[in-house]
Amino acid sequence: MNILVINCGSSSLKFQLINSDTEQCIAKGLCERIGIEGSMLTYTPEGGEKEKTVTPMPDHTEAIRLVLEALTNPKTGVVKDLNEIDAVGHRIVHGGEKFADSVILTDEVMAAIEECNELAPLHNPANIIGVNACKVLMPNTPMVGVFDTAFHQTMPEEAYMYGLPYEYYQKYKIRRYGFHGTSHSYVSKKAAEVLGKKYEDLKIIVCHLGNGASVSAVKNGKCIDTSMGLTPLEGLIMGTRSGDIDPAIIEFIAHKENKSIDEVMTILNKKSGVLGLSDNLSSDFRDLEDGLHQGNENAIRTMKTFCYRVAKYIGSYVAAMNGVDVICFTAGVGENGPIVRNMVCEYLGYLGIELDQELNNKRGLDIAITTPDSKTTVMVIPTNEELAIARETLRFVI
Ligand code: ADP
Repeated sequence: MNILVINCGSSSLKFQLINSDTEQCIAKGLCERIGIEGSMLTYTPEGGEKEKTVTPMPDHTEAIRLVLEALTNPKTGVVKDLNEIDAVGHRIVHGGEKFADSVILTDEVMAAIEECNELAPLHNPANIIGVNACKVLMPNTPMVGVFDTAFHQTMPEEAYMYGLPYEYYQKYKIRRYGFHGTSHSYVSKKAAEVLGKKYEDLKIIVCHLGNGASVSAVKNGKCIDTSMGLTPLEGLIMGTRSGDIDPAIIEFIAHKENKSIDEVMTILNKKSGVLGLSDNLSSDFRDLEDGLHQGNENAIRTMKTFCYRVAKYIGSYVAAMNGVDVICFTAGVGENGPIVRNMVCEYLGYLGIELDQELNNKRGLDIAITTPDSKTTVMVIPTNEELAIARETLRFVI
């Protein structure tokens, strides 16, 4: 079967067509600047050349129409017609407490997802637009929603509640939800598979370190805690997001800089994190690593603070699970950053971790990077959220 995976943002749309038998991606691409001047489609069929087309995309329906046209193009397409696309899997960021699993996107379900919009105002409305656009163009194709929050719905109450008046949970459902769930689920399962151990027997900590970053504790196959909260702002220091701060800082900055709450929130989301902490050196770890080699103080401070926070979360999840068997690194920085992995693991001597530096320098493989004597196994598992969404989608259509 061919499963089209759609990850729809407010002005961009990423897609992959995945053959579920081979689990290979047979074409992928990206629509950028949807609804803005200079819209562009990038399309790459498997084994073919990347094509870039600048063409107007006034809305998401047009963007998806162009994607379907590219996939069925007689010369460079990968399927003859739309009947060869058996189902569409949509990434949906927030499923609130309503969705602890993926789901077929019926009209009733779409209405329930819309009710979660205020919990993810930047993401969910765009995800919904993507689903509706696909429904218009492929009315008879099953659509499945896969939620970033679903994997974390197994967290116990003590992990998801905040120390706030309980009425805010009752009235507004203010609690920890967690994100990147598709990645945490995929990576933790893959780790067990690679080690040849039963998922249900392991205590696993997954460090998803990309532009957005989060850590999760997966005990006996279930997520029991994660670092992102009501929104993806909490937890680790990220590319441009602050992660955990004293909430009183918001008021302090607002007074000192004469800014509104909205303006301070924009600073916390877009101008903080690695970018802000490095005094605007970069939000990209490749630049920070270069800076580190050159002895740049901004880079050194930022790398140390970032890694310290990751190590602190790992420590807290070791406590939460009363131990750990496997620590996994994934996503852009986690997969490609041997320096970050080294700096984090330097804090973890108490877990008896011994990194094998030769293995730590390898890329793109699902491997353990610790020596056989290491008491805790550290692994690098490249994440594949699109494949995870395709697998979820397949569950509903076979
Ligand atoms: P997201 O999906 O959240 O946008 P990614 O998982 O793609 O993020 O991670 C992007 C980040 O990964 C980049 O900002 C960069 O900091 C980091 N990264 C990518 N490649 C490398 C590399 N070769 N070395 C170090 N860091 C890298």
